[in-house]
Amino acid sequence: MSETNSFELDTPEEPYRVLARKYRPSDFTGLIGQEALVRTLSNAFATGRIAHAFMLTGVRGVGKTTTARIIARALNCIGPDGKRTEPTIHPCGVCDPCVTIAESRNVDVQEMDAASNNGVDEVRQIIEAVRYAPASSRYKVYILDEVHMLSKAAFNAILKTLEEPPPHVKFIFATTEIRKVPVTVLSRCQRFDLRRIESGELAQYLGRIAAKEDVGIEEDALALIARAAEGSARDALSLLDQAIAHHEKGEISAESMREMLGLADRGRVLDLFEKVMSGDVPAALNDLGALYDSGADPLAVMQDLLEITHFLTRLKVAPAAQGFFDGASGEAKRAAELAAKLQVSSLTRAWQMLLKGLFEVRDAVRPISACEMALIRLAYAAELPPTDRLVKDLLGGNAPAARTAIPANAPTPARGPTSSSTAPRTAHALDVAPAGESAPTLRSLEDIASLAQKNGAPVLKVHIENDMHLVKLEAGRLEFRPSLRAPRSLAGDLQQKLRDWTATRWTVSISNEPGQPTLAEMKRNAKAARIESVMQVPVVRAVLDRFPGAEIVAVRDVVCEETPVSQSESDE
Ligand SMILES: [Zn+2]
Repeated sequence: MSETNSFELDTPEEPYRVLARKYRPSDFTGLIGQEALVRTLSNAFATGRIAHAFMLTGVRGVGKTTTARIIARALNCIGPDGKRTEPTIHPCGVCDPCVTIAESRNVDVQEMDAASNNGVDEVRQIIEAVRYAPASSRYKVYILDEVHMLSKAAFNAILKTLEEPPPHVKFIFATTEIRKVPVTVLSRCQRFDLRRIESGELAQYLGRIAAKEDVGIEEDALALIARAAEGSARDALSLLDQAIAHHEKGEISAESMREMLGLADRGRVLDLFEKVMSGDVPAALNDLGALYDSGADPLAVMQDLLEITHFLTRLKVAPAAQGFFDGASGEAKRAAELAAKLQVSSLTRAWQMLLKGLFEVRDAVRPISACEMALIRLAYAAELPPTDRLVKDLLGGNAPAARTAIPANAPTPARGPTSSSTAPRTAHALDVAPAGESAPTLRSLEDIASLAQKNGAPVLKVHIENDMHLVKLEAGRLEFRPSLRAPRSLAGDLQQKLRDWTATRWTVSISNEPGQPTLAEMKRNAKAARIESVMQVPVVRAVLDRFPGAEIVAVRDVVCEETPVSQSESDE
């Protein structure tokens, strides 16, 4: 199992434990968001009808391995007094089987990663061993992770055992790709679909953990983490870990989370959207530039604009719609006003144009330029009345407003509205060529971090920036030393993603050499050096002398620009 390699650091000299492991649930009550699974299992245990084989499916990080271990404990728990003779849905957590299973050192509970053992031999060994009674536990439990990776021969071998399993044997299979598991195997398993944890639920969960850790964090910051984690408790916890590790004092703010995740301030994106939709191109570009300068990623800006469009459209059809903006916030009120001003047809057109823009930004060499072009296009289109009105006006003989430039071949009733030259031709936006056709050259860790950002993997981006000490980077090969907070799957995850994104083979390995400081460390050092150098400037010195206790928090280059309206909150 990939999670149980030698990268264990829980030694006495190293008391720090990453949150994902510290708060790994040890029984079903700690498993969030999986009520259906718990209910079904509880019933099965209560009636003594426990399946011989379980199949756990779900996206990565949703808790399959954790659930498998809890099931193994439930099957083998003997209770604190060692007298329990039946499986229980409430494993005690203190008896020898419970403890040893949690630590992956129970002789009767074997974990295997099919991704690295897809040969028939390993499965044969299991099938050999299945015949013998457990050494000390009630059941022999075989946990096979990523079971879809087993070879056909291996599946056939295992099928024999699944047809007539000895009563003392249980199999727990886990997979991210259920469709690759043969039906013959599936039909012999009780199947559980672990669902992605809903982001509101995940945010609440993070809030509870933060409280236990005695860490102050804004609710909006929790929501940002939950959303970035996309339903994975493990990813959410490791982002929270990073946030805790890097925050300096006071509450962890939504602002600092946005910075860490490369997201833009949503209020400012709403300003931008308003300006684009009112056709004010210079103001819109100015806003975009300011967002970009403050570290927002163009792709994230496009994603937020799309989300705003979706949210406003929903507000139009269902005024009570909740979502993008918190119901009580000033932004929610502004969004409602904006929704009232815009037509559904303009919003759907904006959606299509932004979607096309999103793909262009993702594939562009200079994403910010592509982002600008997409917004300019949208701003000009926003000035046009919606196509249906245009056609109606023409049919009714009303001259269209002077500033809506009607092309020479303006639509005639015979051609119908769909062939109108103003109709967006973006229906096939999804067919845009995927990124990675021409493999990007990755010369530095920064390149890899921005590739992750560009491909919509903020969690991985955060780990690349904070947890990797680069040892060696060459074509198709990356070696690094992981930080203490690095998730154990980091090398494997990154290898897989790099292969997907660059369409070339990558080997990502862990090294014992110290390597370079992480990108985040370098950034912090650079910031400190910059502050240090500014302190030498006589004017600054004089100010600091005049105001004892004053502190330089940040150094910013002065950009010549009209101050955006929402500047007030960023004035520190
Ligand atoms: Zn127990």
